[in-house]
Amino acid sequence: MDRIRVVEGDITRQTVDAIVNAANAALKAGGGVDGAIHRAAGPDLQRELDGIGGCPTGDCRLSRGYNLPAPHIIHCVGPVWHGGGSDEERLLESCYRSALALARRHGIRTLAFPAISTGIYGFPKQRAAEIAVAVVRDELAIDDAIEEVRFVVFDAETAGIYRALV
Ligand code: ADP
Repeated sequence: MDRIRVVEGDITRQTVDAIVNAANAALKAGGGVDGAIHRAAGPDLQRELDGIGGCPTGDCRLSRGYNLPAPHIIHCVGPVWHGGGSDEERLLESCYRSALALARRHGIRTLAFPAISTGIYGFPKQRAAEIAVAVVRDELAIDDAIEEVRFVVFDAETAGIYRALV
């Protein structure tokens, strides 16, 4: 399906309506992709997020993109992997579903996702990619407002996993 693309690269450089962040529940600048997004967006991003206050796991919040090429950021809070028995799969699925629902409500038509939860949060990469691709396929099938979903992956291993699925 050509509305889904896999791109190897840096999500902060993507020219789309919204990039998705792998945020933490406090919505405080952290490491990994979150740190990269905060550095590229600039300090006004943290000020806006402090006003929002936080976000539950499996859900997401919208902010402006500030100095990014993308005008919006969707901050998703992925689950920390605790071995698979703590509802991690359902919560990861919920991240992708809620990000697409938020995009739809705000007229966002192109968006870029990182591999949420698969870095510091330890979610197994293959299973996470299967969930991401299945949810996005499912949602795009019932929604023609969203024109493009780009999976932006940072390393060759993750790129290979996504390319085999898309
Ligand atoms: P989490 O805490 O949700 O696990 P991480 O940021 O640690 O989030 O990792 C999520 C994924 O994002 C990992 O696959 C990591 O390699 C990737 N990543 C890190 N920096 C970037 C970036 N600038 N662009 C795209 N992906 C990135």
